[in-house]
Amino acid sequence: METYEPAPGRMSVVGRLSGTGGGRSLMLNAHCDTVDVQGMAEPFSGAVRDGKVYGRGSYDMKGSLAACMAAAKALADAGVRLRGDVLVAAVADEEYGSLGTSDLINRVKVEGAIVTEPTALEICLAHKGYLWIEVETTGRAAHGSKFDLGIDSNMKMGHFLARLSLLERELRARKPHPLVGPPSLHAAMLSGGTGLSTYAACSKVQIERRTIPGETEAQAVAEIQAIVDKLAAEDRDFHASVRPFFVRDPFEVAPDAPIVQALDRAVYKVRGKPAAHIGDTPWMDAALLQAAGVETVVCGTAGVGAHADVEWVDLESVVKLAEILAETAVDYCG
Ligand SMILES: [Zn+2]
Repeated sequence: METYEPAPGRMSVVGRLSGTGGGRSLMLNAHCDTVDVQGMAEPFSGAVRDGKVYGRGSYDMKGSLAACMAAAKALADAGVRLRGDVLVAAVADEEYGSLGTSDLINRVKVEGAIVTEPTALEICLAHKGYLWIEVETTGRAAHGSKFDLGIDSNMKMGHFLARLSLLERELRARKPHPLVGPPSLHAAMLSGGTGLSTYAACSKVQIERRTIPGETEAQAVAEIQAIVDKLAAEDRDFHASVRPFFVRDPFEVAPDAPIVQALDRAVYKVRGKPAAHIGDTPWMDAALLQAAGVETVVCGTAGVGAHADVEWVDLESVVKLAEILAETAVDYCG
């Protein structure tokens, strides 16, 4: 067992079932942090009712982590000798900064990875990325009575937002990605001005832009810069800057990648029917692994209530996932 502490108190734990050599290595990845428990009546009861385990993190995603561990234990108990290594990575901090997986990709080398975020045992081949961008309009502060001196940055921001809403509509009308749909954006946070009797000198909007596989940060920023440039050309008092400040790339893996095909065969064997190939909209650690050159796919348990007041995982799906992961490891690392 190996432990890594990417930040004080934030621990990732990696278990390794060593292979005999010469095979592909596989990481079973699950984050061990959860979101907070505000609003939950029984966050830590772990109650089991009607085949469901209740509590914060049961579905997102300790159910899947239990399945990863059970898969590795089953292989060890059965004395199965694979050529490649099987790693169980319980990673820190996916919910906020993805410190755990970001750190691990520099320390642990594997050929393939299964991120076990919940998918109801279907196979997720793509998810969206996102980009945070701040746009700041600048005006000129002046006393509220001095219309001849003041330049109202909030009004300028209004002009920008009107154009941004046209881009927002246009994005949703673009050709959608077959698994994750079209890109989108929203004007998430807005601030401007310092007092009622003062012309606002500065106004800011923070925009979240959701990207689809194939889109780049540079393209998404250029679309917003183009709005600013056009407004500046039309109005000599329009001044604005565009600043991207956080990016998470979208994720996509080819359906014929060896890790996907091994997982396809395993699901068929365990469930007796082929898994659906799906996309999902939230961002996951899969994008970090894939970008680091690890062929990655997402498959996890069934349940409901990620980040919600009532959360449970379906126990049967935990058992099935363990079987699927063990079969995939035999196929992929054999
Ligand atoms: Zn999660």
